Amino acid sequence: MNVDYQEVEKFSQLSQEWWDKQGKFKTLHDINPLRLQFIQDHITVKDENLADIGCGGGILTEALASADANMTGIDLAEASLAVAQQHAQSKGLSIEYRCVAVEDFALEKPEHFHHIVCMEMLEHVPDPSSIINACAKLVRPDGYVFFSTLNRNIKSYLHAIIAAEYLLKMLPKGTHDFKKFIAPSELVRMCRQAHLETVTLKGLTYNPITQQYAFSDQVDVNYMIACRKTHS
Ligand code: SAH
Repeated sequence: MNVDYQEVEKFSQLSQEWWDKQGKFKTLHDINPLRLQFIQDHITVKDENLADIGCGGGILTEALASADANMTGIDLAEASLAVAQQHAQSKGLSIEYRCVAVEDFALEKPEHFHHIVCMEMLEHVPDPSSIINACAKLVRPDGYVFFSTLNRNIKSYLHAIIAAEYLLKMLPKGTHDFKKFIAPSELVRMCRQAHLETVTLKGLTYNPITQQYAFSDQVDVNYMIACRKTHS
């Protein structure tokens, strides 16, 4: 199976932190409004079926559900899903959470979803192309698939690992493995092979002085892509 159980265990161990906005997942909370805006710049989510792949505690899943999308979130960390379920209930949000591998989910629900989101997840799996192919199967023709991940170069090593994990301690040590970072050209190519054409590539930059993230044309560290399923 295309899963690194140490990775999933790492996230399970931190599951009580998902909704602490100043905790271990602060970065995901901080970038969430930008991710939501990026998605809504491409699609209208209201009443559409969306799946969040590698949803964790549901930070993005809930934001999309609050914008009236019909949300399904999947992950392999049971503890995170339990936290996600409980939190959604406490907010009165109806979200279906499932513990299933995306490859299996794609066999169960081919072309079921209008759009798919899969953020900050590809850099945690052994074979990202298998995840991308499964996302392409899950989405309807012309639907969008959104990915975000970390570029692989000396700057991303210094920013995302040395600075974020060791100097600024924004993330727990060991959160990321540099070898699993993905260059935009590699992501675009894997998407194209899955019949997903890249529409937009956008960077996110962090300003350590203001401690805020902003959109950027620089994709050398954090970046997101929006791609669209072609008919072939
Ligand atoms: N997408 C969420 C969480 C990102 S953290 C967000 O951006 O807010 C990465 C998530 O990927 C964790 O929840 C982890 O459990 C999950 N994950 C790692 N490997 C996975 C796999 N093979 N299948 C599904 N989820 C996986």
